[in-house]
Amino acid sequence: MFHELADRGARVCLVEQDRTGLGTTAWSGGIVRCYHDDPVLVERGIQGLSFFRSFAERTGIHADFTETGFLYIPHPNRYEQARILTDRISQSFPAQLLSAADLDRKFGHILGESAEFAVWEPQAGYLDATQVTRALVRSAVRKGGRLLEGVRVDGLNRVEGRVRGVRGSTGVLAADAVVLAAGAHTPRLLDSWGIPHDLWAQAIQVELRGVDAAPKDHPAYMDDVLSVNGRPDPDSNGMLLGHPTGHRIDGAIERTAVDPQQSRLAVTAGRRRFTWVDASVPLGGFRAAECYAPDGRGRVGWVPEEPGLMLATGFNGGAFKLAPWAAGEAARLLAG
Ligand SMILES: Cc1cc2nc3c(=O)[nH]c(=O)nc-3n(C[C@H](O)[C@H](O)[C@H](O)COP(=O)(O)OP(=O)(O)OC[C@H]3O[C@@H](n4cnc5c(N)ncnc54)[C@H](O)[C@@H]3O)c2cc1C
Repeated sequence: MFHELADRGARVCLVEQDRTGLGTTAWSGGIVRCYHDDPVLVERGIQGLSFFRSFAERTGIHADFTETGFLYIPHPNRYEQARILTDRISQSFPAQLLSAADLDRKFGHILGESAEFAVWEPQAGYLDATQVTRALVRSAVRKGGRLLEGVRVDGLNRVEGRVRGVRGSTGVLAADAVVLAAGAHTPRLLDSWGIPHDLWAQAIQVELRGVDAAPKDHPAYMDDVLSVNGRPDPDSNGMLLGHPTGHRIDGAIERTAVDPQQSRLAVTAGRRRFTWVDASVPLGGFRAAECYAPDGRGRVGWVPEEPGLMLATGFNGGAFKLAPWAAGEAARLLAG
């Protein structure tokens, strides 16, 4: 968002309490794909993949894109939806439906329980989310953006009933408008400012599983039948294996060590789908908080009760791939 606004010539200042890219983003798998079981998110995913595949042209800075492809296994009652959405994606990027026989041919070497039907996006993949975030910030600063790191936002600066900046740990910072993009900290900040909302913080946990030899041609994946997701992790020569936690977090938000009970659930689900899970060994994992919203589409918009304040959050575990859409949407609303 900082980059998008600077790129459009806006006078923009990013206020970060830490160093940029070290929030939940630092724990992200960085997977970028078009398919979502929601036509609105498909459009936003297409925008994201287009952005990340042309990152260097757009920012002037290189970031590695690892093209693993993305395999999606839909729930059987979503097959018709999957056909329609795959057709839409294929107008922008290669995407195809796989039958059980196609799946066996292509992924038989990694699949335990097979599936009747899947979606395959060969040009999807992942990036290092922190590297990308810091590259975007650097590019934004080169384009005239102002970066304040190590400065915490404590409150809003209101002038005549309108938000005109923030009160930070270094004093008041004046601005025509404020975009609150504080990730999992957002619900707590809104509470402390007395602003009503329907957001909450929730833990996401992804297991890191050590394998003797990384399975060949393993795609990034999401499986809505067994509720697992992940990708290969060349940094550890292992595999990422996620399973939804449903754990809401109240009060102080911390990044914590993995929850062993959650790890067992992930492995139990994962071993049904992938043959490598059984022989894999735990190498820890990543557990961090994310801001959730009821519709899971991302909350980018003005706060009706607080003129001059915009939210950009509530991505339910998908803000990395949806960030290019969110940035464009925020810029459009600010310009309007
Ligand atoms: C294990 C894991 C795997 C994931 N995998 C994927 C994936 O493969 N693909 C994908 O698209 N998404 C993935 N996600 C989700 C994605 O990482 C998040 O949606 C995204 O990082 C959230 O970005 P954000 O900018 O909203 O929050 P953050 O990255 O947390 O950034 C918010 C920033 O606000 C700062 N801040 C907070 N409060 C204040 C304050 N008062 N003053 C100043 N600064 C403040 C914080 O320091 C932080 O830097 C994953 C998440 C996890 C945990």
